[in-house]
Amino acid sequence: MDVAVPRLRVTEIFRSLQGEADTAGWPTVFVRLTGCPLRCTYCDSAYAFSGGEWHDVDAIVSTVAAYGTPRVCVTGGEPLAQKNCLALLERLCDAGHRVSLETSGAVTMRGVDPRVVKVVDVKTPGSGEESRILYDELPRLQPHDLLKFVIVDRGDYEWSRELIRRLALPGGVEIYFSPSHERLAPGELADWILADGLGVRLQVQLHKYLWGNVPGR
Ligand code: SF4
Repeated sequence: MDVAVPRLRVTEIFRSLQGEADTAGWPTVFVRLTGCPLRCTYCDSAYAFSGGEWHDVDAIVSTVAAYGTPRVCVTGGEPLAQKNCLALLERLCDAGHRVSLETSGAVTMRGVDPRVVKVVDVKTPGSGEESRILYDELPRLQPHDLLKFVIVDRGDYEWSRELIRRLALPGGVEIYFSPSHERLAPGELADWILADGLGVRLQVQLHKYLWGNVPGR
């Protein structure tokens, strides 16, 4: 009897430095899956909306292993839009990698291997996709997971500040505020955070300062 081999549509696999969140600066292999049901105003990955090539999960795991790099980030697009992403995450964890998942918070995270660190990009009004947030999923995050807000302007900042005051997040979940590249000056966001004494971490997208906004870096 044939057993269907799980496959995924992949835009690119490459090694770079992690540009964001708690592991910023570490060499990391990125697996960028194809497709996203959202259309954020600031999207820097629109080239992953379509195209890509189909690969077996086994082949993806082998390609990642060939880099010899412990950290792996599964990203997109919206990686969870392909249901076989769950199998890939599990296989990468089984292979001994430290696996993170960049997801929009607009597609259910149920079934994600608990060893995976989920980096949830909460969609602010400035993204144009605020209505897509699955708020019910946020209290079920694990302490090692992270929330990220890409802030476009002062209105986004105030909206995010009020949301985190209302959210009942599990203890340990860190919150990152990131200025939208070329739309908000990092120093301005830093001043707002300090003026309010907000318990969030400022992050800049390291890879964009190193190499600009280019695919595969
Ligand atoms: S969720 Fe991510 S990949 Fe999808 S449109 Fe928004 S920024 Fe782009």
